[in-house]
Amino acid sequence: MSVNVLAYSEDRELLLQLLGKGGDMAEKAGGEVSALLIGSGISGTDEFFRYGADKIYIVDDSKLEHFSLEPYRASVLETIEEASPGFILMGATKRGKELAARVAAALDTGCMTECVGLEIDDEGRLRAERLAYGGSTISTQVSKKAPHIATVPARAFDKIESTSRSGEIVVLDVELPDARLEVIERREKSRGDLGLEEAPVIVSAGRGFKDQGDLKLLEELAGVLGAKMGCTRPIAADLGWMEEWIGISGRKVAPKLYVACGISGTIQHAAGIRDSQIIVSINNSETANIHEMSDFSLVGDIYTVLPALTKALKEKVG
Ligand SMILES: Cc1cc2nc3c(=O)[nH]c(=O)nc-3n(C[C@H](O)[C@H](O)[C@H](O)COP(=O)(O)OP(=O)(O)OC[C@H]3O[C@@H](n4cnc5c(N)ncnc54)[C@H](O)[C@@H]3O)c2cc1C
Repeated sequence: MSVNVLAYSEDRELLLQLLGKGGDMAEKAGGEVSALLIGSGISGTDEFFRYGADKIYIVDDSKLEHFSLEPYRASVLETIEEASPGFILMGATKRGKELAARVAAALDTGCMTECVGLEIDDEGRLRAERLAYGGSTISTQVSKKAPHIATVPARAFDKIESTSRSGEIVVLDVELPDARLEVIERREKSRGDLGLEEAPVIVSAGRGFKDQGDLKLLEELAGVLGAKMGCTRPIAADLGWMEEWIGISGRKVAPKLYVACGISGTIQHAAGIRDSQIIVSINNSETANIHEMSDFSLVGDIYTVLPALTKALKEKVG
């Protein structure tokens, strides 16, 4: 019997990656993989066919211009009703995880979150590998009830360009419930916090910084390296010096270079940076955990090391 796969994420790049994995799964299950697009004024569907979608379901309504739970959940549920997928892959973004859990509850099925490995087992169930304990171990779980729902973080799977350039588009007319929350104001995020996930170079601050004004040292280093600035949770959540943090409860990053300044390297922070290609740590304690996961360790005071490093790099760049 053929079983279909449905993929959804509000993040287009992540949706392409879900189609890559979903395509593999659909091949094994003898079914097809579909992409679900939800929004208002949806365009640019060709890209999804180019990256493997056999079919695209569209729910397009002005009520869906911004994310709100009830109308988005209704859109996903209606699509599931129409497409009858055996497997549903959703992006493990904050919104994706919220939505996946509600959809699973409505269907009285399970939901495995943050899956970095997915296979259909011999009994046709979904077998997932999930990072556990802040990413220090991998737990393998099996979903026993269909439809099997899994959320997948960015970059867990590759997008795969397909030879097929077209497929079927199904536009669904969904009766959308009103949102229970009214959004009073929307504001752009500050520029510094945008695109951390995509940044090739990140310099990051921890509690080694004694004063908000001292972040200028980090800004100067970021300027020479063309880097984005990140931080640990206390810097953002407790002190409010930056808006968002990196780690298990914050952003997960995968830059080519991550420079950790005055960061101890707790398991919660490490979970967000372990996909970095090169980690450089600057910490005045020789025994700080961050050194264990670093490619280069600088034992020293950030207040002396950072200005010296910035100066040396400026001279090198010219
Ligand atoms: C449920 C939960 C979720 C969490 N999620 C996250 C998360 O997503 N991300 C996250 O970051 N944290 C998270 N935390 C918090 C986490 O446990 C740590 O408290 C936090 O990561 C520590 O941040 P830090 O390294 O900046 O501070 P500290 O652990 O206080 O480390 C400061 C470091 O700076 C060094 N230092 C001090 N002065 C200097 C100097 N002058 N020069 C050089 N080095 C210096 C010290 O040696 C020390 O190693 C979470 C906690 C909980 C309970």
